[in-house]
Formats: sequence, C-alpha cells, structure tokens
Amino acid sequence: MGDLARLVRAVPDFPKKGILFRDITPLLADAQGWKEAVEALAAPFRKAKPRIVAGIESRGFMFGAAVANALGAGFVPIRKGGKLPRETYRESYALEYGTDAVEVHRDAIPAGTPTLVVDDVLATGGTLGAACRLVGQSGGKLLGAAVLIELTGLGGREKARVEPLHAVLQMPAGGP
Ligand code: AMP
Repeated sequence: MGDLARLVRAVPDFPKKGILFRDITPLLADAQGWKEAVEALAAPFRKAKPRIVAGIESRGFMFGAAVANALGAGFVPIRKGGKLPRETYRESYALEYGTDAVEVHRDAIPAGTPTLVVDDVLATGGTLGAACRLVGQSGGKLLGAAVLIELTGLGGREKARVEPLHAVLQMPAGGP
C-alpha cells in the first residue's frame, strides 16, 4: 500500500488554515492505483456479500460506486441535507461550529438489506457515524464501513462507532 499512499497529496492549509488536506485526485487519475484502491476497500467485505454499498457525498460517491461494482452490489448515495428529492431519513452531526446533516431516501435501503458504508477520509468520525445511523434508521443490516484513509489522532474511529471499520491507509491528521 506504500504506492497508494504516494498517490495521495498532502495540501497544507486547505480549505482553511491549520487543516492538512488529503487530496485523492492523483490516485483517481492513476489507472493502476485506482484499481488497487477499489480492490483494497472491497476485499475485506467480499465474503459478507453486501447487497448495497452506500457512499457519502461527495468523494464517497466515487469510491462507493466503484466498490459496489466490484462487489456486485447496488449503490445508494448518502447526500448532504436538502439535496434528495423524495422523502428521506436524516441524521445530524456536530461540526467545529454548528451541525450538519446527511440524508438517504427512505426506500433506498430495504429492511434487512446487507449494507456497506464507504467514504474517502475518516477524520473526526461525525460524517461516517451519521451515515451508519442512516442505515440503521432505514432498517438495513450494517455490515461495516470502509474508508481509503483514516486520519489518526482525532478519535474518529471511536466516534463513528461502526464495527468493523476497515481503513486502507492510516495517516496522521497533522502530517507528514
Ligand atoms: P469527519 O466527519 O470529520 O470524519 O470528516 C469526514 C469528511 O470530511 C469526509 O467526507 C472527508 O471527505 C472530509 N475530510 C475531513 N478532513 C479531511 C482532510 N484532512 N482531508 C480530506 N478530506 C477531509
């Protein structure tokens, strides 16, 4: 996985001062790296046979959709509040200042459906935790979650409260 880590660029002070942003666009553009990343996300859940992969807006759409294809599952978008046109379930989570929310269509995950949640980066864990609670609200059977990058030192894994949580790469939140 060393090569995959090299395809993620660390961008200091984006989108605001003090944040070390992990930019995955070089990985997406690298045919071999992209293929390896998708396979590494999917592999631990192959045996569990998810019927649905739920990806979190917006970079989780790319990883989630590709993982769904790799696993022969359907894809369900988990969107930021107010974007989905029909009736939704909604889960809020705390930000540094205020709250945010994610939503899923009420009929997107039928009761009992084995579901895997996918995102690109786990930071404080608020987003992933809320997405997993949406699977619970829908009545889906949560198989676990997979992220490309877990930023360590932020307590995200504890806050997300999803088991198993598979991270392809671990990187310190503050660099290098
Ligand atoms: P959190 O709710 O704090 O775990 O934030 C996770 C979401 O924010 C993910 O969907 C990421 O795409 C994005 N994110 C948070 N921190 C970073 C970072 N340092 N680099 C890239 N994306 C990040």
